[in-house]
Amino acid sequence: APYQTADVHDLLDATLAMFSAKIGPDVRVVREYDRSLPAIPVYAGELNQVWTNLIDNALYAIGETGVLTVRTGQEEERVVVEIVDTGPGIPADVRSRIFEPFFTTKPIGEGTGLGLEISYRIVVNKHHGDLAVESEPGRTVFRVCLPISGR
Ligand code: ADP
Ligand code: MG
Repeated sequence: APYQTADVHDLLDATLAMFSAKIGPDVRVVREYDRSLPAIPVYAGELNQVWTNLIDNALYAIGETGVLTVRTGQEEERVVVEIVDTGPGIPADVRSRIFEPFFTTKPIGEGTGLGLEISYRIVVNKHHGDLAVESEPGRTVFRVCLPISGR
């Protein structure tokens, strides 16, 4: 995918739209968008893979009932996107391994264990950003930081 200037909200909305049919009636999606964010240079197709992976994981963690929050903001020279879920959280022994390729806690056929490894590479290597996680029971936050100035 070409390097282009994009509004992250457009990318997030496109990904959320793809999931809409899979989101049950008792799962609430909350968008907390900072509309004042600048458009930033991105590989849009790859970044959409990141949103897809993170939102897929969040919805899986939430299950039937809960809240998915997609939040954006700016910190110094970076755009920050947080994908927050109300699922069970990530135990410490699991958390230390989630970015390893093929690491999954999901049943066979439900997860490849590649989503976070690929997401990390796309955010960190390709966009010179950061991907971090913070988790406790009932609240998991995946936080993506992307430089406004690009590469
Ligand atoms: P997969 O989704 O195929 O299992 P990922 O690389 O996307 O692979 O995620 C690896 C593992 O990280 C998951 O199997 C799960 O154990 C854990 N994980 C990722 N996101 C979450 C989340 N939002 N809540 C709880 N666990 C998570
Ligand atoms: Mg996944």
